[in-house]
Amino acid sequence: MGTILHIDMNSYFASVEQQANPRLRGKPIGVTGGDRLKRTVLSTASIEAKRLGVKTGMSLWEAKRVCPNLIIVCSDHEKYLSVTKRFLNIFKDYTPYLEVFSIDECFLELPSLTGPATRQPHDYPTTLTRVGPHHGAPRLVSPASFPGVDVAKQIKARLKAELGPHITCSIGISYNKLIAKLAGSLKKPDGLVVIPDEETALKVLDEASLDDVCGIGSRIKRRLFQMGIRDFKDLRKVPKECLMASFKSYGKVLYNMARGTDYTPVIPFYEKQEIKSVGHRHTLEEDTFNPESIRQTLLKLCELVAQRLRSKNLMGKTIHCWYRSSALGGVFYGEGMQQTLTHLSCDGLEIFQHSWQIFQNIWQGEKIRMIGVAVSNLFPNKPINLSWLPEEKKRNIILQTLDTVNNKYGDFTLQRGILLKSEVVRRKPNPFLSDRRFKI
Ligand SMILES: [Mg+2]
Repeated sequence: MGTILHIDMNSYFASVEQQANPRLRGKPIGVTGGDRLKRTVLSTASIEAKRLGVKTGMSLWEAKRVCPNLIIVCSDHEKYLSVTKRFLNIFKDYTPYLEVFSIDECFLELPSLTGPATRQPHDYPTTLTRVGPHHGAPRLVSPASFPGVDVAKQIKARLKAELGPHITCSIGISYNKLIAKLAGSLKKPDGLVVIPDEETALKVLDEASLDDVCGIGSRIKRRLFQMGIRDFKDLRKVPKECLMASFKSYGKVLYNMARGTDYTPVIPFYEKQEIKSVGHRHTLEEDTFNPESIRQTLLKLCELVAQRLRSKNLMGKTIHCWYRSSALGGVFYGEGMQQTLTHLSCDGLEIFQHSWQIFQNIWQGEKIRMIGVAVSNLFPNKPINLSWLPEEKKRNIILQTLDTVNNKYGDFTLQRGILLKSEVVRRKPNPFLSDRRFKI
């Protein structure tokens, strides 16, 4: 593997807005997740807002309480996508190995021209102190001669010149994706951090907290804590078999992570045709514990998911459901949050029946703020998957009719009777681009 660059735009949606509108520059702004100002969460806070304590994912109400001067801007996904296309066009001048990780994040692999001999670890200070977002600014490694640093500097200069000085990025450079992403997270905004070798990577990992690394979310972190594993030093002491007993195949990933090892390749956008899951989530107009309105919203989301599966000619086997409660603030994932069917499905009603069961299993009766559903384990919808049972044939005709009408006249023009008078649920562009094709 050559050198890996991880490029992450800083406060992306907010900085695009600030670049577009001079009156927003230098001010705390928050970009909302939807088109309704009434009730939603922040999808991005500007650098100024973050400094004042505003965080991504906060509800508007919380954000306004933390920062009364916060300027709220409605998100404009088409605008962000067009800027994303522009920076992808810049990146692809440097390498064909460009992986689009999300709307504001990419991995670039620069093939090593002269092989591993270009690495000169002794040129770099390897003592890293005060590393990680929780411990103040890290002391940075900024070697001039490390492969990729030149490219990173050129990219930064071109972003400034071609997109505007208000859109900045943090770049992490290392020998694999995991460590490059970690390096990029060490300095925000406008950072450039190199972790040249495994020795340095281990030092950085030792100072980091478990969820600073991509791949350890709150749920895995909690499970590791329960096992008495509080940091990467602890994790490194656990035998691989032990981790695999608790986390199945992901145990191996965790074992490697603790050692700064990651074999996942950079997958260029033109090779990444596989969609791993199709999902939708929705923030309710008002927090509620009324099962009827939760049920209606969930059914609508399932219909949207199913419609998208059908439009991509896919069927899925595993159904996931989750929610965010108003009390806990965070996303709640209960045990048993997924169910696997014995057959493939792209029928909204069927997906709903399973996700409603999951929801009932994980819900503890508290007020709900947001609810989401996704289908994974996807396969192409081939005629062989179709059943010839009369009721199945009838169902397929109904689904085809639904799609024809709704694709022409808008979502939910034709809908199930139970959905009458239910809350409006709109389709939103997926921020992770998982099903967007890029022509760059
Ligand atoms: Mg970002």
